[in-house]
Amino acid sequence: MHPNDPSLRSFIDVSPDSDFPIQNLPYGVFSTESTLSRRVCVAIGDFVLDLHALQSAGLIGPADVFSEPTINAFMALGPKIWSATRARISELLRHNNPVLRDDASLRARALFARSEARLHLPIRVSGFTDFYSSRDHATNVGTMFRDKENALSPNWLHIPIGYNGRASTVVVSGTKIRRPLGQTKRPFDSTPSHGPCLRLDFELEIGTVIGQPSAMGTTLSEQQAEAMIFGFVLLNDWSARDIQQWEYVPLGPFQAKAFATSVGPWVVTREALEPFRVHGPTQSPEPLPYLHQTGANNYDIALDVTLRGSEMQVPANICSTNFKQMYWSPIQQLVHHASSGCAMEVGDLLGSGTISGPGPKERGSMLELSWNGTDPIKLAPSVERSFLNDGDSLTIWGHCSGACYKIGFGGVEGTIVPSM
Ligand code: CA
Repeated sequence: MHPNDPSLRSFIDVSPDSDFPIQNLPYGVFSTESTLSRRVCVAIGDFVLDLHALQSAGLIGPADVFSEPTINAFMALGPKIWSATRARISELLRHNNPVLRDDASLRARALFARSEARLHLPIRVSGFTDFYSSRDHATNVGTMFRDKENALSPNWLHIPIGYNGRASTVVVSGTKIRRPLGQTKRPFDSTPSHGPCLRLDFELEIGTVIGQPSAMGTTLSEQQAEAMIFGFVLLNDWSARDIQQWEYVPLGPFQAKAFATSVGPWVVTREALEPFRVHGPTQSPEPLPYLHQTGANNYDIALDVTLRGSEMQVPANICSTNFKQMYWSPIQQLVHHASSGCAMEVGDLLGSGTISGPGPKERGSMLELSWNGTDPIKLAPSVERSFLNDGDSLTIWGHCSGACYKIGFGGVEGTIVPSM
């Protein structure tokens, strides 16, 4: 049976609202208190399955790429091995397969409660590129800072706009985010000053994880680009709006984005998302031929953002939207990225750009939710926010809804701590 078959069941109990049924099997990297070395795992229900332990027992191959501290060596093996490995892991977890189910000693070596596992950054990020592919987000920002009639810049409907960000400060969910320092100049200031960011923001995004390289000086077809995509992570592109506003002319964001980017601990594979592929919005004007796409290259992924201030008992939901509305697809972003002859590497991470929808609760940043601070959002009876305070904990959630299971991402959380 195919690993995406909705009727598959595991011998491990998985509740219907779990992010990690047997149809998902996202890749991560973990360690435990007793074994500090990092190794590759998949999530199943409330457990992590240690792939190095399975490889040592001779149950999965082809090489020992699972004792590495990231999934890069595994990704480098290519799509045929990705598929075969996922199928094999799925087989070993099935309710009617005794190999792992009935081997208590192997189970003790390979299965760990997720609550006891420390999850690490799953990929060694080679390069981080951030796009700007949500039409609603670009329209909101353009309306705020230019005018409604000219909200989209003249190039926006022709090029997946992006910039090269920093790989060095991509961190895993749970890492504390220090409020950045930077240079700012408000419109009414006569001179710039340097100090803690006063308009700290998040950006709701999904990151595409590139699992295969392309050579410098070559270009990619739609099909070649698709085959290079290993999977997807939730991504929060933390942003310092006051720093951004002063520095971004003429070369775009720099320090406003360079201080931190959080990603989820689980890389959901492209294969697990296959049943949730959908066509994106109609593109008009038609993109240039090198950006034509024939496939349904968007994904139906429901997204939520919750925010909890240190003064709050429970988090408040501040945004609910969907990834399927993105104007430029991940494949078009990758095709465009390589189109100049730019080499792509195993471990490259491509941020989708802030994901916003048309409704007021579908805005994927504080900038949009509070309309540049002019309309603060209510989190609790006496709690409001325009931007993020120290002590605020922000989490992005994402999942696809199957017939009787969901393919989830496990969330990406970050808590703001004061400046140095
Ligand atoms: Ca961004």
